[in-house]
Amino acid sequence: MSLLEVRGLTKVFNRTVRAVDDVSLTIEEGATFGLLGESGSGKSTLARLIPRLIEPTAGELYFDGRPLHNLRDHEMRAMRERIQIVFQNPFSSLNPRMTVRQLIGEPLIIFGRATGSALDARVHEMMELVGLPIEYLNRFPHEFSGGQRQRIMIARALILHPRLLILDEPTSALDVSVQAQVLNLLIDLQKRLGLTYLLITHDLSVVRYMCDQAALMYLGKIIEWGTVDQVFHTPQHPYTQALLADIPSTDPDQRMLERISLESDIFSARWNGHGCRFSPRCPAAQIGACKTSDPSLIPTQAGHRVACHLISTDSATS
Ligand code: SF4
Repeated sequence: MSLLEVRGLTKVFNRTVRAVDDVSLTIEEGATFGLLGESGSGKSTLARLIPRLIEPTAGELYFDGRPLHNLRDHEMRAMRERIQIVFQNPFSSLNPRMTVRQLIGEPLIIFGRATGSALDARVHEMMELVGLPIEYLNRFPHEFSGGQRQRIMIARALILHPRLLILDEPTSALDVSVQAQVLNLLIDLQKRLGLTYLLITHDLSVVRYMCDQAALMYLGKIIEWGTVDQVFHTPQHPYTQALLADIPSTDPDQRMLERISLESDIFSARWNGHGCRFSPRCPAAQIGACKTSDPSLIPTQAGHRVACHLISTDSATS
């Protein structure tokens, strides 16, 4: 059963910049959905559109079958107890003047869920859950390592009993040695609490390790989406193929999307709004349609979808 359904979600900034462009996706309850993209692909904007921290220009959102897109502000605020975000950088996301007790307990106060001893008991429970010693209760963020600060962020996100956690680059600001600890904690919490994750990252290895489904976003649009096996073992889109071809799996320093050897980056290879948005960088661009129309995301085999004219041509002729 799907917990989150996004239909045609679009966000236009300054009337011209389509940061998120007609994105549709579905996340099953209890699954981990990995959304991959370079900086500038629109993935972090999408993360903020889902709980309506920023308002969509168009599109529909459904959470547990209930429409979110037309809820009033006070109704949406209540729904945010069920949809929480863990942001990328625990260094800048935590108020340096608040203690761990205040930081983790604050959502309970904001939503009017607990005070006094009930609040303390819940904060203790959360600290235990994420592996933070109770004696750290009155310490301040600067007294913690990056991994411990991310544990504080996770405890804060979990204290309201959410069902969906949006994890926006949860380990990219951490040392490599700490990243695996935080990812394993997230896997453990998912099993124990029955959580559903939308994991947003530019790190292919994190998606391969954590996720059931994987989607690649490029200039605001999903250009490939399938199971992790489909995307990593039989990639269909030239962008995905280029990313995966350049990754020696044994070298952790080579796993970032920014380090792929496509001829240019997402910013320098400007798309003029005509044809396929990947055509300025595409090593396979060859048919006229690449220059005249932007391909839609179409199904190719069980659950695997690709936006590429070459694939749609193959599908039509096979
Ligand atoms: Fe490349 Fe053409 Fe496919 Fe776009 S539609 S990804 S330009 S082959």
